[in-house]
Amino acid sequence: MKTKRAVIVQCRLSSSRLPGKALKILGEKTVLAWVLTSMKKVKADKYFVATDHESYETLKPICKKNGFDCFAGDLNDVLKRFCDLIKTLKVDTIIRATADNPFLFYEAAQASLDEFEERRKQKKGCAYFTFTGLPHGSGVEIIDAQSLLEAAAQTDNPYDHEHVGPALYNHKENFKCEFVKAPSRFYNPELRTTIDTYSDYLRAVSIVNYLGIPKESRKKWAPYTTEQILDACKSDFVQNPIVYVPSVTKGQGTGHLHRCLSAAIFTKGFVYIPKDSTLAEIPQILDEYYQKGLNKNQIIEELPDQTFAPVIVTDCFKMTQAQSQAFYKCKKLISIDEGSDFTQNCDYLLDIIPSYDCERLPNTFDTSYIEKPVNVKNTKSLNIEKVLVCIGGEDPAGLTVPAVRSLARVLPGAQITAIVSNLDKYRDMVQINFIPPVENLKEKINEYDLVVTHYGLTAFEAAFAGCAVIMLATTKLHEKLAQKYDFAYIPQGKIDSVKMQQALESQKLHPALQLSHEQKSLGECINKLAAGTRLLCPVCRSLPEVPDPVISRNAGRTYRRCRSCGIVYMSFTAEEEMEYKKSYFFEDYKKQYGKTYQEDFDSIKKQCERRIQNIKMLEQGQGGKNYLDIGCAYGPSLAAAMDNDLNPFGTDISEDAVQYVKNELHFPACCSAFPDMDSEKEFGISKFDCISMWYVIEHFKDLDGVLSKVSQILRDGGIFAFATPSGEGVSAKSNPDHFYTISPIDHYSIWEPHRAQKILGRYGFEVVKIVSTGHHPERFPAIKDSNAPKDSMKWKFIDKYSKLMQLGDTVEIYCRKRK
Ligand SMILES: [Zn+2]
Repeated sequence: MKTKRAVIVQCRLSSSRLPGKALKILGEKTVLAWVLTSMKKVKADKYFVATDHESYETLKPICKKNGFDCFAGDLNDVLKRFCDLIKTLKVDTIIRATADNPFLFYEAAQASLDEFEERRKQKKGCAYFTFTGLPHGSGVEIIDAQSLLEAAAQTDNPYDHEHVGPALYNHKENFKCEFVKAPSRFYNPELRTTIDTYSDYLRAVSIVNYLGIPKESRKKWAPYTTEQILDACKSDFVQNPIVYVPSVTKGQGTGHLHRCLSAAIFTKGFVYIPKDSTLAEIPQILDEYYQKGLNKNQIIEELPDQTFAPVIVTDCFKMTQAQSQAFYKCKKLISIDEGSDFTQNCDYLLDIIPSYDCERLPNTFDTSYIEKPVNVKNTKSLNIEKVLVCIGGEDPAGLTVPAVRSLARVLPGAQITAIVSNLDKYRDMVQINFIPPVENLKEKINEYDLVVTHYGLTAFEAAFAGCAVIMLATTKLHEKLAQKYDFAYIPQGKIDSVKMQQALESQKLHPALQLSHEQKSLGECINKLAAGTRLLCPVCRSLPEVPDPVISRNAGRTYRRCRSCGIVYMSFTAEEEMEYKKSYFFEDYKKQYGKTYQEDFDSIKKQCERRIQNIKMLEQGQGGKNYLDIGCAYGPSLAAAMDNDLNPFGTDISEDAVQYVKNELHFPACCSAFPDMDSEKEFGISKFDCISMWYVIEHFKDLDGVLSKVSQILRDGGIFAFATPSGEGVSAKSNPDHFYTISPIDHYSIWEPHRAQKILGRYGFEVVKIVSTGHHPERFPAIKDSNAPKDSMKWKFIDKYSKLMQLGDTVEIYCRKRK
């Protein structure tokens, strides 16, 4: 006889953590509708939603629309609810799903149903069957109906009754239950697709925003396939969700919100607008962006928690201390035009509106991200007929009234318009046209001949639109900024007609704008930064409570000094990771040094010989001769060691290099990603007498693992030596920002010789010799500025000085493992 199957989706609206989650909207469709569409793909005879009496009327229409019947039963005794339904259905097999899982793998559900029934056919049937290792929230349970009825009758455990499966699998002595590892196609236990919390819901929104809404036909929705769901879950888009935090405070203008919404349309990120926002124009602005393609569920009133760790992008004028601390603990913090004192908390600082140099240095400053107006003036107006006064927001400094009064006096024929947020306040001044904030002002600003404003986005937009601009400075800094960017301005203090007249006569009334007219996409930039990586101190490996101080920022990276161990490390990078392929030693090396690594072999070997002699001298012939070179490349140091009576062993991450060492130089070598190397297994050696890393140590992100391993495989009293760029050489000292900007993107730590002992001491090493190398007199300001030739006294003196003061740009550090 053919078995009968029923799909039963369990649903209630009274969730404690996220009430009404089944009715929350995901891409125009409720969460429940997503569940039902995918479960409808499983072959069954009946399709039911099992709910409680209170939720019944609300859910019934959704069930009907999706081809499901709706059954109301006990609210809390879910087991009873299921059994009551089963009794009315007369089915053999139940496929159980829950209504908080919109991304069910219906293919896996069908596969598990097939396996269950195959077992039954072969008389090896079971009461309960499920796949393990699916993303949390993508799986279903297959249940033998008769067994469930029996199990319910046998248990009065409250837990069993609040759930369904436990009545069977917590009583395995009575019921055969099978948990089978899912086929590899479905197996992704590290992923999460369920909706239990608000953060889960936002992840679900991201998945839908990433994939778009699938439609089978014009009317019918299609559920996502396994591959689509996995692709979405693993995408940068879902893994690094972006949450914009614009200023939505009265008095700070609407520019921040505009910029974030515009970028959010491009990146499909979320925009955080808390309920208590005081900016009056929010609804009007949101409508404008909904029409441009912003999705309603991109606007959030609550920030997601650590389970859906977002990349925070602030554009909020000045973060509060509390914000800066909370955002620092998120995955990454990228800040636009951040003006607070908490910029140390930011992984990346992007400045768009020019600021003054004497303030903090951003990672990048680029006015190309200012959205330039499309509507611009064809010709500069020589006669000023239409004037706009736009101070923005609440005008806390009260600039509007004195500005319009003096304008009326010096431009008697002009038509003066002023944008104010409180019209009533200005009712008496009839000769001026006061208007409320203008939607999309940027595209209308070209209607005016002159724009009078304070320092900010409007000033730049007006200038880009070809208007004359007068800036009203409210601080000394704003005066300097106006001067720097060539704006006509009225200094801080009282505004009167004399000063207004002077500003009108200024040569700079039409700012020449030395700034870029190029239009770059802020959204594109944010996408790239969001995919960047925050890195921890490679030695301490934890996020400190208080951010480590920033040493340098540049367009691609940020560097900090660890407060705990003192090392300088790359703390953020927006650059893609390097692969150490063959090209690293050939094309890349050649680009940097003008010859390939192998062409350079003999000169490198010569350097190595000197270093090997240093090691031998320090080692004092006390032990054996086994020498390991980590990152041995094509083996110059191994060859030098051989010539100096040591037994060389090598390891490198490049397979090609290791093959060369083994086949051409005939030294033992293995390919490994140190510290993942078993020297006992590879070479039959558990402790070496000396170990080296020449220009390798700076490439490790996990120095702790590396140094621990070196310490472990070096005998007591043995020598560990390494060479690396010096953070205390002339280049780093004379121009640190340039030094860090040109530092290769795969150098994760910068060593400063005088701090090395503190770090190495942690691993049982004692620094016994430091050799400053890479002396370049031409990099000293004294030589650079005077162009002194190589054979001059000055050059020779600087060369000596560099050596004496250890100002070489590279350094060799030799240490001994303590006994
Ligand atoms: Zn540290």
